Amino acid sequence: MNDNQQMLMIQQYLKDSKGVSCEKCNHHLFVEKFALRKVSRLITGSPSDTVIPVPVFACSACGHVNSEFAPKEFSLTDEASDQISD
Ligand SMILES: [Zn+2]
Repeated sequence: MNDNQQMLMIQQYLKDSKGVSCEKCNHHLFVEKFALRKVSRLITGSPSDTVIPVPVFACSACGHVNSEFAPKEFSLTDEASDQISD
């Protein structure tokens, strides 16, 4: 598939798409934010702990992250104490 065909497909998909709005305030614009996850050097074997940025979309009005955009692997509201203790 060339770029032009791909562009036409995306245009078609957009025509058939539906909008996404914030679960909390119904706003319809989002910003990309990053959740940071720290992985212990004991797990990765690297000299220091590794920080992994995980992109999430948050409502640009109230900052809420819709459940469908929340990462499946962890909770965004994890307490720091649930993370790595040295
Ligand atoms: Zn909102």
